[in-house]
Amino acid sequence: MASSRILPEFELLIPQSIKEAVDLLGKLKNKASVMAGGTDVVISCTKGFGSPNVISLAEIPALDYVEYDSKSGLRIGAMATLQQVADNADVQKRYPALWKSAAINGTPQTRNMGTVVGNIMRASPSGDCICAILAIGGKVVLRGSKGKREVSIDDFYIKYRETACKSDELAVEIKIPAPAAGSCNAFARMTRTTLDLSKVNVAVRLDMSGKTVKEARVAIGAVAPTTIRLKKVEALLKGKQITDDVLQKIVETVPTEIKPIDDVRSTAEYRRDVAGIMVKRIILEALGK
Ligand SMILES: Cc1cc2nc3c(=O)[nH]c(=O)nc-3n(C[C@H](O)[C@H](O)[C@H](O)COP(=O)(O)OP(=O)(O)OC[C@H]3O[C@@H](n4cnc5c(N)ncnc54)[C@H](O)[C@@H]3O)c2cc1C
Repeated sequence: MASSRILPEFELLIPQSIKEAVDLLGKLKNKASVMAGGTDVVISCTKGFGSPNVISLAEIPALDYVEYDSKSGLRIGAMATLQQVADNADVQKRYPALWKSAAINGTPQTRNMGTVVGNIMRASPSGDCICAILAIGGKVVLRGSKGKREVSIDDFYIKYRETACKSDELAVEIKIPAPAAGSCNAFARMTRTTLDLSKVNVAVRLDMSGKTVKEARVAIGAVAPTTIRLKKVEALLKGKQITDDVLQKIVETVPTEIKPIDDVRSTAEYRRDVAGIMVKRIILEALGK
């Protein structure tokens, strides 16, 4: 494996439209990688994992939108930066989990370059926006030579760093439904230092009817090959009021649903120890407690 700060040579392709980008992907298939903000693609190139062709989305017009509508929800275009999402008042008010996952992501420099769609497409098991969006729910909109399709975030992550996006497809936007009345969400992460990637991240969406949970979506990252939903925990929450007993059962159940490993950021044992407590705390935070 090459280890250098010097970029190896590659062909930089700069399409001017989505169609041109899709045509290039169709022609080059897995000999090309798409670049949005490039905060990951460029590092991959310096580490020797780059492609011979890099297709930059930088000059495709009007892909940098963050738009909210009370009926159709939120749409985030492929070139909308993490900072744009962190600066958006609708995101902050209605999707605090997503807002936080963008606002704490990396450094001011990487937030100004890196995108939310890039975070989703990078498919890292520790990806912060992935965790938030998996809890909130949403769809990735893909464009390929055969046209447009939408894939639920629930079906998007197949295995470690592999998604449902085919090699001739481009992600054009993320769609997130408008929150129903009584719905709340929150995100938290644990890192070694402020600027590190997550050693564990958690996010929750609770659809409440008074004090009772109608539906719950709970996501956790960096404890399995992909970010996952905690289905047993969700079942424990559904139809219940959140009592100390329910929370204690959740703390005990979380470790049974995860498969953490030892790596540079943490040990499997530590991740297993803290994951349940983090889920309990994020549930309380979402409820404003
Ligand atoms: C210093 C530093 C700090 C970081 N901190 C964090 C952090 O706190 N939390 C975190 O989650 N991540 C972090 N990252 C990782 C990364 O920067 C972010 O995930 C960022 O959001 C990636 O967005 P990007 O636009 O730069 O992606 P890019 O580098 O452009 O692309 C990332 C991957 O997605 C693919 N891709 C991008 N856009 C598309 C598209 N439209 N269609 C198809 N494929 C696409 C690329 O081919 C590539 O595989 C950090 C990175 C650095 C360098």
